[in-house]
Amino acid sequence: MSWDFETDEDFQRQLDWVDEFVREEVEPLDYVVGHPLDMTDPVRQALIPPLQAKVRAEGLWGFHLSTELGGRGFGQVKNALLNEILGRARCAPVVFGNQAPDSGNAEIIAHYGTAAQKEQYLQPLLDNQIASCFAMTEPQGGADPLVMKTLAVADGDEWVINGFKWFASHARFASFLIVMAVTDPDAAPYKRQSMFIVPAGTPGLEIVRNVGVGYERADEGAHGYLEFKDVRVPKENLLGERGGGFVVAQTRLGGGRVHHAMRTLGLIRKAFDMMCERAVSRHTQGELLGDKQMVQEMIADSWADMEQFRLLVLRTAWRIDRYNDYRQVRADIAAVKALMPKVLHDVASRALQVHGSLGVSNEMPFSEMLVESYHMGLADGPTQVHKVTVARQILRGYEPAPGLFPTGHLPAQQRVALARYADVLERHLEQI
Ligand SMILES: Cc1cc2nc3c(=O)[nH]c(=O)nc-3n(C[C@H](O)[C@H](O)[C@H](O)COP(=O)(O)OP(=O)(O)OC[C@H]3O[C@@H](n4cnc5c(N)ncnc54)[C@H](O)[C@@H]3O)c2cc1C
Repeated sequence: MSWDFETDEDFQRQLDWVDEFVREEVEPLDYVVGHPLDMTDPVRQALIPPLQAKVRAEGLWGFHLSTELGGRGFGQVKNALLNEILGRARCAPVVFGNQAPDSGNAEIIAHYGTAAQKEQYLQPLLDNQIASCFAMTEPQGGADPLVMKTLAVADGDEWVINGFKWFASHARFASFLIVMAVTDPDAAPYKRQSMFIVPAGTPGLEIVRNVGVGYERADEGAHGYLEFKDVRVPKENLLGERGGGFVVAQTRLGGGRVHHAMRTLGLIRKAFDMMCERAVSRHTQGELLGDKQMVQEMIADSWADMEQFRLLVLRTAWRIDRYNDYRQVRADIAAVKALMPKVLHDVASRALQVHGSLGVSNEMPFSEMLVESYHMGLADGPTQVHKVTVARQILRGYEPAPGLFPTGHLPAQQRVALARYADVLERHLEQI
């Protein structure tokens, strides 16, 4: 029997180190570093690498990776507990070497890359000497990958790529892009597309503009709207099998979603702590906000939402470790992905409300957290699509009722029970 919610002492010591390090050393960077992956920013270059060195010295660099790739092979539960702390600071994933989309891209290259691709791209990416981009979404559609139109045509020893990509995060910082393109338009729908490695600066690849999210200034946008105009890459730049684009894409999205969820939990807790601090600090009508029942309701609901979500994420992480089979945890991961934006949205909204005008101002982080909740509900696929996955997976475990009425129909249940216990009922009813 094993049913334990405690963290062992050794690992707790590591968590404590990370917690203090993130609060003291990493969180302040969020106010001075522009984008943590902009290697051309001298402030970033002066401040981030020394902290990365401290993380390496502590043996926690790229902790999420398997030991073959230089990580700790901690498994997803420990990864989850660490990521929860990293979620407090925007720069923390880069300081620890597990930022998206580089971590997922490294996972793909490690899994499907040729020896040459690994040599050229994998180690520099794992070392954060370079950044990367994953370009799948197109302007005409993201939730439905079958509407993608970017085309790659074989021409001698090269592939020639034409089309547009949209919301390709970090394209402007990337040394290479992993691009999904149609190679076999007449094949079965999920065998039409393939993945390619396209080095940044390849002639014909143009960033039409960099798009930002709600709170960002125009010059801060990091999501590339890209045009591919006769972009030529050597045949060897195909990543994985021809027609295997969907299989490759699926590889990068499993564990990554759980990492995102735990980091988001760190952000949720940050909003929650701020809300509670305000509730015990601010007086109105002669009493503390925290003495008002409707404020108490916001705190109670937020705490319950946060803790339920945390348990679901940790259980999902545990099931990933336990089964080591994506098919067995698909519903769990999709449920975590669908719940994540809602919990962040709800807790950040309540925290904003409890802070009043200050909460909605640009002097507090709540508006940013709200936009972030929509980011979480779109990147890696919209919430609705993940809910469909959950429902489909769950419904597979159910059989249709054999008759016209459901098996839980009370008259039928009662009929069965009466027949089963007829002799007992007969004996006892006679005595009444
Ligand atoms: C911050 C951010 C970063 C991103 N980074 C990347 C990246 O690096 N690379 C990349 O390729 N893409 C990236 N994306 C794109 C992301 O994957 C897409 O936004 C997402 O897949 C949805 O596609 P769409 O925006 O075209 O919305 P649409 O496909 O137009 O869908 C719009 C809405 O319709 C609803 N909807 C869609 N399908 C269904 C359905 N089956 N059932 C019910 N409702 C549905 C949902 O509410 C959805 O939000 C990023 C997005 C954001 C916001």
